[in-house]
Amino acid sequence: MASLARTSTLEPIGEKVDAGERLDFEDGLALLETDDLLGLGELSDRARRRRGGTDEVYFVQNLYLNQTNVCRVKCKFCAFAATQKQEQAYTISTQELVEDAVRQRELTGFTEIHMVNGENPHVDFEFYVDAVRSLKQALPDVHLKMYTASEIHHMTVLSGLTHEEVLRELQAAGLGSLPGGGAEVFADRVRKLVAPGKEHPDHWFATHDAAHRLGMPTHCTMLYGHVETYGERIDHLLRLRAQQDETGGFLAFIPLAFHPENTVFERRGWRHTTGSDDLKMLAVSRLVLDNVANIKAYWIMMGMPLAAVALHFGANDVQGTVVREQIFHAAGAVTETEQKIDQLVRFVRDAGRIPVQRDTLYNELRRW
Ligand code: SF4
Repeated sequence: MASLARTSTLEPIGEKVDAGERLDFEDGLALLETDDLLGLGELSDRARRRRGGTDEVYFVQNLYLNQTNVCRVKCKFCAFAATQKQEQAYTISTQELVEDAVRQRELTGFTEIHMVNGENPHVDFEFYVDAVRSLKQALPDVHLKMYTASEIHHMTVLSGLTHEEVLRELQAAGLGSLPGGGAEVFADRVRKLVAPGKEHPDHWFATHDAAHRLGMPTHCTMLYGHVETYGERIDHLLRLRAQQDETGGFLAFIPLAFHPENTVFERRGWRHTTGSDDLKMLAVSRLVLDNVANIKAYWIMMGMPLAAVALHFGANDVQGTVVREQIFHAAGAVTETEQKIDQLVRFVRDAGRIPVQRDTLYNELRRW
């Protein structure tokens, strides 16, 4: 059956890949619909290599921080956010945040801080600028990858500044790059269903566009596996590809599988995406996003064994030694939150690849 499917669906797309032609919406849809999972993996790996990919697999040593979980938005897929009155609500002072980060640095020597938060209506713009400035002063060698496009948009509301002005201030204080969160699925239909209180996707693009034009690299994501159709997934990828054509500042794409635990979707009996859907999504991302160099298999979400398989489905990055991830774990991820370097190295080597520790900007720090 697989060879028949390969002939009917994957072969013409494979010919386009070999000829260096761009895949279109119909191609993307056909790839997501194929049952030939292994053929799809092989094709994505071929595409990756044709575009200059090697056997190197990257990871970064980073610390995850969340300064506040208070959020005004109430996305239906979110198990992290709280309202100010809820018992689990917290907002950490900048001093506490910095002291904690400095302590962790002494223990793990991370090179990157990844921090995202809820859209807290009870703080002001200075709260964010102060956090960046204070972290940078305390840890000048650490790259600060902080605040989703949703948070940046929230800061424009708090401050009355434009996206560009907010980013300029944060950049001057020491912000190095933006994570890719807040993208969810761009299609209006999906957004109305899962995140009706969230700003329009145009703001996500306005933020990343402005960041790229200021020379600040960013990341991009898609949260899949809830109410979206295959067509809406491909539409999402094509919108990202068009932005990358314009400004070229996306360092990596991270497909994030939806975890239903502790959300309204769990009560409706929803379950995780399957491993094969996760592998498909990675492979199709690699094939359609022909202008984004790095595709991440986010092991926090999929577990390290599947992430290792994903290295044969277009991924070339396994994120890193994430210390204290809270957002996916609030939604039921059961992976360890700190993956030691030697374990990561073993997984990457077992997959037949070369482990390379990188900094945020993909400069090599060490290889095995
Ligand atoms: S996903 Fe982000 S914006 Fe939505 S409720 Fe959770 S913290 Fe708030």
